[in-house]
Amino acid sequence: MELLTIGAFAKASRLSPKALRLYDELDLLPPARVDPDTGYRYYTLAQLERARLVAWLRRLGMPLARIRAVCALDAADAAREIRAYWARVEAETAVRRDLAAFLVAELTGEPRGRHTMLELRYAARSDRGHVRPANQDTVYAGRRLLAVADGCGPAGAPASRAAVAALRFLDEAEEPAAGSVLNLLEEAVRGANEAVQDLARDGDGGESGTTLTALLWTGSKLALVHIGDSRAYLLRDGGLFRITHDHSVVQSLIDEGRLTQEEAESHPQRALLLKALGTSGAPAVPDLRVREARDGDRYLVCSDGLTRVVPDALIEELLAAEPDPEAAVRSLIGAANAAGGPDNVSCAVADVVESARPAAAVG
Ligand code: MN
Repeated sequence: MELLTIGAFAKASRLSPKALRLYDELDLLPPARVDPDTGYRYYTLAQLERARLVAWLRRLGMPLARIRAVCALDAADAAREIRAYWARVEAETAVRRDLAAFLVAELTGEPRGRHTMLELRYAARSDRGHVRPANQDTVYAGRRLLAVADGCGPAGAPASRAAVAALRFLDEAEEPAAGSVLNLLEEAVRGANEAVQDLARDGDGGESGTTLTALLWTGSKLALVHIGDSRAYLLRDGGLFRITHDHSVVQSLIDEGRLTQEEAESHPQRALLLKALGTSGAPAVPDLRVREARDGDRYLVCSDGLTRVVPDALIEELLAAEPDPEAAVRSLIGAANAAGGPDNVSCAVADVVESARPAAAVG
């Protein structure tokens, strides 16, 4: 077996000797032989392929630990891992892209002052369902805030109540400027997470936590904060759009192409969350985004007690059929219970409508 010096191997692999030494230290590409006296590293030609793979994966931005895992796989599995990694990068980038667009719009002073004032008409309701012994969901709707939280674990009910309670002040506050609304929400979620963690600590054993999905009205925009597998939807121009991404294990498997939507519905781990408030003392990093609202929009936030048993097509149909938010909420909850009501179910619906107040302050 021909051994190449690190210099020769560096030339052949187009990697620097410095990079090769680093990959050795990180256990990504150990040399074929290290001279016990001089410490010089030697490589074989057969190691070229791996050296190139490591270099490409570094260029892709893949973390070192993950590169090590990919290098240990056969080609087909390595390809699947890379695809999965990239799907995750793209999902995270999409959230950041929205945030960047929002900040650009704010900083370039996009025109304010519409000629019509908009406001929300809203309703909310929560139901135990037919199976669970207690209701661990909390839902809220007010003139600025819609929120749903789905608690789990022994302290699930107080956890979801605490999470929503930590956002309630936003409903009473003055209309927040669109520019500061994300800071406000992020702060509020931090407070909610602390409150839930305190509860989880006081509880006797068993992990407790809660999801939280909320929309905050700024007068022309809706800021969205989301963590867990509760959802927000928008009904616009007769079409239903889901505007949140579940932080669940099965959703990440779907994103990575390892599971189809159909397989996910019966997956044994479909209730497992990747992120929630309060669990494991981990920092709870919510998705935050701001959406432009339009006259005629209808928003729904709901717990998984609805979406697990009522397909999107039926949600769309029911939302479109009931002009009154209260009636819409009731019919959605009725549909979940008609499908067996296996879980607590909570819905809040808000319509964006022209304000009844005179639009005096518009200039
Ligand atoms: Mn639930």
